[in-house]
Amino acid sequence: MIPKLRRTTAALSNLAIDHRGARRSNSHGVAADLAVVPIADRTPEISKVSLQDISVTYATNSDERLTALQDINLQVRPGEFLCIVGPSGCGKSTLLHLIAGLQRQTSGHVLVDNTLVEAPGTDRILIFQELGLFPWLTVGQNVEFGLRMKGTPKQVREAKVRDYLHLVHLQQFADSYTHQLSGGMRQRVALARALATEPDVLLMDEPFAALDAQTRDLLHDELERIWAQTGRTIIFVTHNVREAVRLGDRVVLLTFRPGRVKREYEVVLPRPRHLEDVDVAGMAREILNDLRDEINKSLEAEYGYEANA
Ligand code: ADP
Repeated sequence: MIPKLRRTTAALSNLAIDHRGARRSNSHGVAADLAVVPIADRTPEISKVSLQDISVTYATNSDERLTALQDINLQVRPGEFLCIVGPSGCGKSTLLHLIAGLQRQTSGHVLVDNTLVEAPGTDRILIFQELGLFPWLTVGQNVEFGLRMKGTPKQVREAKVRDYLHLVHLQQFADSYTHQLSGGMRQRVALARALATEPDVLLMDEPFAALDAQTRDLLHDELERIWAQTGRTIIFVTHNVREAVRLGDRVVLLTFRPGRVKREYEVVLPRPRHLEDVDVAGMAREILNDLRDEINKSLEAEYGYEANA
């Protein structure tokens, strides 16, 4: 069974909820629907994911070590949609790998549900651009794969595959092979496969970067709907600031190497949002202004290019 609906679509369209759970009026200035239950677990003192004084250094070819992340302190609330933006090389992927338990930090602590992360776990799953779908398995078998690994009984597996393919509107494609699907459909299979194992935290690393604009728009809608329906916590890395504002409850901007938190932005715009919304574009412009310096630093470091030369 798909977990109970924690936010209704009506809630998304009527209500913008800030991190203290405060109600706000919608874009038309109409008071938010009082029947909508505020998301109780969005209190700041509860963290789903907690990054405490995280630093990561890597060995390089020379004797020096490269500091990828430095002094990162970040709390992610249960059910939050958090977007992380920053220039290429600022440590965004590294951050997701730490939370996934695929890599260890040099110093600091990563906690999920107040428990130290020391290895990968079924409560967290990483989705990235190269989907890792198995071409020799059907769509249904791909979605079933993680459940088999978990030792889920056959009957339960079958029900979950049905439910999650339905959730991503691919129920008619259960017996197709992934090469028979479009890029957007394959990305939805990857999403269904990840969701089927019912992780609490979805870690998404530029999942839509390779898709055309139209398909990406559709997947933004789908992801927002699925997030609303399942109440998962999502940490979404992107270099696309407008995408971050379109999707996120909050956007965290990282500096270029070493990656530090430069600024956090609460996005209290009403949902559903669209990339073309004036308010989305306005907020993206504000973030982009802050990001520009970091991009220039990354260009300088990578290509010796001086922005103001
Ligand atoms: P982003 O996802 O923001 O592009 P990454 O997390 O991939 O950044 O990388 C951050 C920095 O750490 C980059 O400069 C990258 O070259 C470096 N880096 C990442 N992984 C390794 C590694 N395994 N060994 C050495 N350097 C690495």
